[in-house]
Amino acid sequence: MATINIRRDVTDPFYRYKMEKILSKIEGKGNGIKSVIVNLPSIANSLSRPPIYVVKYFGFELGAQTNTGDHDRWIINGAHEATKLQDLLDGFITKFVLCKECQNPETDLSISKDQNIIRNCKACGQRTKVDPRLKLSGYILKNPPQKDKKDKKDKKERKKSKTNGDENKEGSNSEEDSKNGNGHVQPTSNLDQYAAEAGSDDEFTRTITDAANKISADGAGEDQHALTTDTSEKAIRARQNNELTAAIERLALAEEEEGEDDPYGQFDEWFRAQGDKLEDVDDIDIYKKLQDLGLETKHKTPQVLAQCLFNKDIVKQIAPRAGMLKKIIGASDRHERAFLGGIERLIGKDYPELLPSLPTVLHNIYDKEIVSEDAILKWGEKASKRYVDTATSKKVKAAAAPFLTWLQEADEDDSEDDDEDDE
Ligand SMILES: [Zn+2]
Repeated sequence: MATINIRRDVTDPFYRYKMEKILSKIEGKGNGIKSVIVNLPSIANSLSRPPIYVVKYFGFELGAQTNTGDHDRWIINGAHEATKLQDLLDGFITKFVLCKECQNPETDLSISKDQNIIRNCKACGQRTKVDPRLKLSGYILKNPPQKDKKDKKDKKERKKSKTNGDENKEGSNSEEDSKNGNGHVQPTSNLDQYAAEAGSDDEFTRTITDAANKISADGAGEDQHALTTDTSEKAIRARQNNELTAAIERLALAEEEEGEDDPYGQFDEWFRAQGDKLEDVDDIDIYKKLQDLGLETKHKTPQVLAQCLFNKDIVKQIAPRAGMLKKIIGASDRHERAFLGGIERLIGKDYPELLPSLPTVLHNIYDKEIVSEDAILKWGEKASKRYVDTATSKKVKAAAAPFLTWLQEADEDDSEDDDEDDE
């Protein structure tokens, strides 16, 4: 694969910062014509930026819709030549990657307390602001870069390798990364249009308030989710509903002290009546229904939601629901526990074939701050028969182990860094 200098104005063939040339494919025709950026993840990795930022930048510059990179397919509506995109990418690099001070591309982004996007330069140490008036700046503020714990881990490993006499200098890692394709890849964020617009609690609260003034007569209506659902969806959904009903019955028995008239069952019934595609059911309608039934603050609601909202596509279904889920789950530790219990049940019982994806599922939940790190670690500590039978719980926790280990290690790195700060 041909590489080019990240700064195309630098003609030095030995310039150390390189990236792949954009490779794009035009697919479809007529109104459905679209451009697929085949190697976006590699390019974004070379720039140490999440691919979604790059594709959104293109979208804003071209006034075109973009998708969310599901299954690593990064798509811009319309026909756009690779050369044109490459030119646009220069703008992205200048505005969002290069240190404003020394023009070095080895920077990472952070959000300052006063809501500015800052490029932190690893070469010269300067912190330079990104222009807040750029459209992508708004997007980044709403979908901030992950505090990249993996990056810290890399740092730790680099430290280790240095002490082992390895001459790997700090600066060389961006090349290394683009070579081996992992390194400090930012966890892929399947943020979509909705998450972009309603990703935060505040935003969601505002959206609800706005919606409360409207009549929701249009029901599911047209929506932004262009996801296709396959034909087996119905069958799986039916199975899931049965499981859900059983779970709800159990809950109702277990929680008789609350003396309710099974509002969870009513919610389930309502949810099922909304249509076949889970993604089509609007967050606001869900929240309003929960309110109607007096369930929006109940600690069992997160469990029921985990089992309603997700199916085999759970990996990409989490981010779009983050705003609403945070609003409901943020209430207490018990809510967090119930949500993880719902996930445990969904994957352990309904979709055991998804067990290998559980680390990714948990990562997405953690990444979107739907459930806290502490709650996840606590949940992972031991098997429990609270939500599933003990054998299933064991299987689930074992499947979660890689993520739990990662989380713990990231945590240790954090405290290590804190120690350093204290010195
Ligand atoms: Zn610099």
